[in-house]
Amino acid sequence: MIAKNFVALCLTLMLCGSLHASDARAGDASETRSETLSLLIGEVRVGSLQAKTRGNEVTIDYEYRNNGRGPTLKEHITLDESGLPSAWTIQGHTTFGSKVDESFAVQGSKARWSDSTGTGESDAARKLYAAQSSSPWALGLYARALLADGESSMAAYPAGNIALQSGEEITLTGSGDSLTARVYSLGGLDLNPSHILLDGDRQLAAFITPRFVAVRAGYEAESTRLRALAAELSTRRLESLAQQTAFRFEQPVRISPVRIFDPHTLRLSEPRAVVVHRNTISSVQPVDTPASPDEIAIDGGGGTLIAGMFEMHGHLSQEQAALNIAAGVTSVRDMGNANEVLDGLIRRIEQGQVVGPRVVRSGFIEGKSPFNSNNGILVDSQQAALEAVRWYAARGFWQVKLYNSMDPAWAEAVVAEAHALGLRVAGHVPAFGTANGMLDAGFDEMTHINQVMLGWVLEPGEDTRTLLRFTAMKRFPTIDLDGPAVRATFDRFTRRGVAMEPTLAIHERGLLQRDGAEPVGGAGWVEHMPIGTQRDMRQSWFEIATPEDDAGYRAAYAKIVDTLRAMHRSGILLVPGTDLGGSFAYHRELELFQTLGMSAAEVLRRATLDMAVHLGRDQSLGSIEAHKLADFFLVDGDPTADLSALKRIRLVAADGVFYRPSDIHAQFGITPFVEGVALPGASR
Ligand SMILES: [Zn+2]
Repeated sequence: MIAKNFVALCLTLMLCGSLHASDARAGDASETRSETLSLLIGEVRVGSLQAKTRGNEVTIDYEYRNNGRGPTLKEHITLDESGLPSAWTIQGHTTFGSKVDESFAVQGSKARWSDSTGTGESDAARKLYAAQSSSPWALGLYARALLADGESSMAAYPAGNIALQSGEEITLTGSGDSLTARVYSLGGLDLNPSHILLDGDRQLAAFITPRFVAVRAGYEAESTRLRALAAELSTRRLESLAQQTAFRFEQPVRISPVRIFDPHTLRLSEPRAVVVHRNTISSVQPVDTPASPDEIAIDGGGGTLIAGMFEMHGHLSQEQAALNIAAGVTSVRDMGNANEVLDGLIRRIEQGQVVGPRVVRSGFIEGKSPFNSNNGILVDSQQAALEAVRWYAARGFWQVKLYNSMDPAWAEAVVAEAHALGLRVAGHVPAFGTANGMLDAGFDEMTHINQVMLGWVLEPGEDTRTLLRFTAMKRFPTIDLDGPAVRATFDRFTRRGVAMEPTLAIHERGLLQRDGAEPVGGAGWVEHMPIGTQRDMRQSWFEIATPEDDAGYRAAYAKIVDTLRAMHRSGILLVPGTDLGGSFAYHRELELFQTLGMSAAEVLRRATLDMAVHLGRDQSLGSIEAHKLADFFLVDGDPTADLSALKRIRLVAADGVFYRPSDIHAQFGITPFVEGVALPGASR
């Protein structure tokens, strides 16, 4: 899990003992109000935020650590007499270490701001400054301003609108106190709304997500309930999305004329008609075959029909589930999650309550350490790791995935147990271990190319549970791809047919993105995204403090590409996964696979049939043939000639339910790429 939920990760706070001054207007100068929120991932407290308000001046200290990383920020906000920010500075660093030095100020008739994407100005107006790297204290500020104005939305600097929806009232029980608060949802800037709780004085009582909760100190015991509330709010939104975007037909559905991508021949067929009945492709027919009575006819417009694609590195959330369907990704291999949360999501997808892909599960096993990730099952002994393998095997998981804080000495026994129980093993290289050691222990697949290449540049005893697993990539240019060390590792891959899941797009994003520069890999889609997402894509992850840093990371990426080209030439199976939520990032992963020596058609086969074979599902998935499951998508144009055609998806079938990506994108504030097909018999 390199970079999941970066935006969500950054949003947490802690609060207690609020005094008066309940509305947005600036308070009495002599009065000081202190707010403290605890930040929790699951039940683990990982950080806090302190906010001090004196009159109309607010200072905020914010920090958390999870999985060996996290942001540290200091904010200073000046509020005008109506409670809107008239000046705002944010300094510190992001989760992956890049510098934050953001500012906003209204001076006379001008508003000016500077963030990682550069500087901007506009005429001063009754607008809210939407901070790029703020703590979630900003969410309380936005909500108070909108409530004070009696408005449901307000224009924002640099662009966009912030919209507010009010929800139910709930009572929280704390250590010796109780608190009544109302739920509010703030949307308009990003793909998904943020959910907060304001108390009777409209002070921030909590910020809630299904994985993270920031709650007023003393109310930490409510974190499970608040995570469940966030999941419930997300489910309600996505159930309504499913009701508005899913098309189910009892009758057979005929899509014609289309040209079918055949992964066996790597060619497009002559014009054909594809007939679907319930969740199965019932027949593929010559285009002039007369339709049977009482069919639904969909005009394929001569477009290309491709089998549903496989995102092989997800940490699936409900939101991502719908966006992946809109991107033609109808199967996701999940690489680690909160097991009970994922269970619930899979159930809701299978029951058609929310839109989402088929899910292949990996059992996440992590060692307990100060740097551990809070996913899956945490273990503190080899015995506990073996029990975790048995737990996953009994519940039908496809593989187990080992993570950074596992003890490398446990790998052999864990692999032996997993294989004995029919599970594959993939993973990171546990800290203080080596890729060769994990390959010798019997890993079936290595996750993240940096995890393998670090083995050629790290000194014994160096700790990859920290940001070192990113910063040490600057050593990659020293790697000799024809040298004995690389050969020894490649031989281990080829000897046992071990696969490599590089997650190349996330390396491109981390190593090549610079503050303010055009988003790497964003061509053809970034401008369709909400303003907040566009800004985040222009922010560097790693600290680029010197020209050497810049050159070092660029050269590291070039070496990664050379290494993967050599792996591909050696016949090592490269597995397409993003660790970035799939969807558009998955399209980028495929575009990058083309730079590794594959043709566009070979890349499409890799994303479809090859992964169906890899997962043992090629009897029912991976190509468009009669009697296979109806998982496919229709694009304008020929993606075997140009992969960017994957952006122009007009129709997706997932388990025989039909969707138009333009409908789904509209629900996320994404400007549609192409109009969806006309769907007869549907009321919308
Ligand atoms: Zn991951």
